[in-house]
Amino acid sequence: MYSHYKTNETSPLKVTPEDIYMQDAAIFAATLGLSHPWQITSVSFAKDAKRMDISVEFSGGSVLSCPKCGKEGNSMCTETECWFHDDFFRYQTYLHARVPCPECTCCGAFQVERPWSRKGSRFTLIQ
Ligand SMILES: [Zn+2]
Repeated sequence: MYSHYKTNETSPLKVTPEDIYMQDAAIFAATLGLSHPWQITSVSFAKDAKRMDISVEFSGGSVLSCPKCGKEGNSMCTETECWFHDDFFRYQTYLHARVPCPECTCCGAFQVERPWSRKGSRFTLIQ
């Protein structure tokens, strides 16, 4: 039986998202379009599967203004959403977002903007 291996497949020039993240986590936030009060709370990498999981949340105490009347809304709860991108720094990426669900006393519930879902972004909501 004949088998042929290359003994060393790894190239020193192959930069993984993990390398990028370790060097400059701000690049990730910028690529996602995140700015205060959004923040990345954790990132995990599965090199073999080329999968990355990023958790983000909206920091508490931020004012959420109603888009209709501008009044400050109350957010009594958050919901967790999972978004998927099939090629974020060449990895399949799951973004787990804790998103507030604010309510205006006059107009009712409203949505906060998800920066990573802006036009042209390839993140899609999967659950
Ligand atoms: Zn309102």
